Amino acid sequence: MNGPLLKVQNLTKHYPLGSGLFKKTIPVIRAVEDVSFTVETGETFCIVGESGCGKSTIARLLMRLVEPTGGRVLIDGTDIAGLKKDALRAWRRRMQMVFQDPYSSLNPRLTAGQIITEPVENFECLGRRRHQALAADLLRKVGMSPEMMHRLPSELSGGQRQRLGIARALSLNPSLIIADEAVSALDVSVQAQILNLLLDLQQQMGIAFVFISHDLGVVEHIGHRVAVMYLGRIVELAPCEALFAKPIHPYTEALIAAAPVPDPTRLRLEAPVEGEVPSPVYPPSGCAFHPRCPLAVERCRIEVPPLVPMADGRVVACHVRAPATEISGNPALAGDRSILLAQ
Ligand code: SF4
Repeated sequence: MNGPLLKVQNLTKHYPLGSGLFKKTIPVIRAVEDVSFTVETGETFCIVGESGCGKSTIARLLMRLVEPTGGRVLIDGTDIAGLKKDALRAWRRRMQMVFQDPYSSLNPRLTAGQIITEPVENFECLGRRRHQALAADLLRKVGMSPEMMHRLPSELSGGQRQRLGIARALSLNPSLIIADEAVSALDVSVQAQILNLLLDLQQQMGIAFVFISHDLGVVEHIGHRVAVMYLGRIVELAPCEALFAKPIHPYTEALIAAAPVPDPTRLRLEAPVEGEVPSPVYPPSGCAFHPRCPLAVERCRIEVPPLVPMADGRVVACHVRAPATEISGNPALAGDRSILLAQ
C-alpha cells in the first residue's frame, strides 16, 4: 500500500457546553482545532503539550471513540468515518490502544491469560489450547513468564500490568498502537523498561506508534517525529532530533526549558514560560499563546499564525519566528503545508 499508514486531515473536535435550548449561541470547548499529520508504517509519532492541550482527545478521535466535528482520519487511505459496523470492527483490529492507568484499564476479574486473549475471542473462538499458546507467546514477547497467565491484575506490579496491557494490544497483530501517557504512571526505572520494550516490539513487528505524552524526556528517547500542541492546535511539528536540538516556536522552547535535564553539562534554555493555559472555551484572539509569549507583537493578538514549512523539514506556526510572508516567496513551499507534514 502506497502512502502513509495514518493520515489525519484538518481534524477538529468541539464539545458544546449545555443544550442551548433557550440560548442562541452555545459556548463550545475547542478541544482540537484543524490538526493534520501523517504516520508512516513503523514510525513513532509523538504528540506533546500541557494538560488540556487536546492530545488525549486526538487519541479518542483516532480510535473513533468520539466523532469529530470536522476533518478526516484515514487509515491506508480509508476514511474511518464512513465505515459501518462490520467494517469498523475489522478496522479496529488494526489500531489498538495502551492506556495511562494499567490497573483501571484491565478487568480485575479476568486472569492475565483471559485479558490477553479477550480481544481475539471477539473475532474468533479460540480453543483452550490455542488460548493458552497465544497468551504464553504474548507474555514472553512482553518479557513476562507464561506462568503469570493465571494471575489476576491485583497480583501483578504496576510495570507488569502495563506489560499486560501491551500484550493485550498486540494480540490482534495491529499496524498501529496509540499509547496515551502509557508510561506516566510508572516509576522511572520501570518507564525505561517499558519504553525499551516498545522500541524492541517496533523493530520486530514494524508497528507504528502514536505516542502521547507530556514528558519530553520520554518523547526524545522514543520518537521519530513530534508534534507540539497548544490549546488544541499544532504549533510545531518536526523530526525529534531537530526539535530538541533547536526548538523554533517559543512554546516549544519553553516546554524544553521546563523539562528536567539529567546531564549537568547540557545547556538549559532561558526561564520557562509562566502563567496558565487559557480556557479552551474562550481562547485568546490571534495566536492563543500570545498572553504568555515573551516575543508577542501586535499581529499576534489579531491573526492566527498559519503552519509554515521551514527549510529543515519542520512546520511552525509563529508570526515572529516563522513569518508566512518569507516562506511564501518560495514556490516549492508556498501554500501547501502537507508537503512537509508527510515526511
Ligand atoms: Fe509568540 Fe506571536 Fe509567535 Fe504566537 S505568533 S508564538 S504570540 S511570537
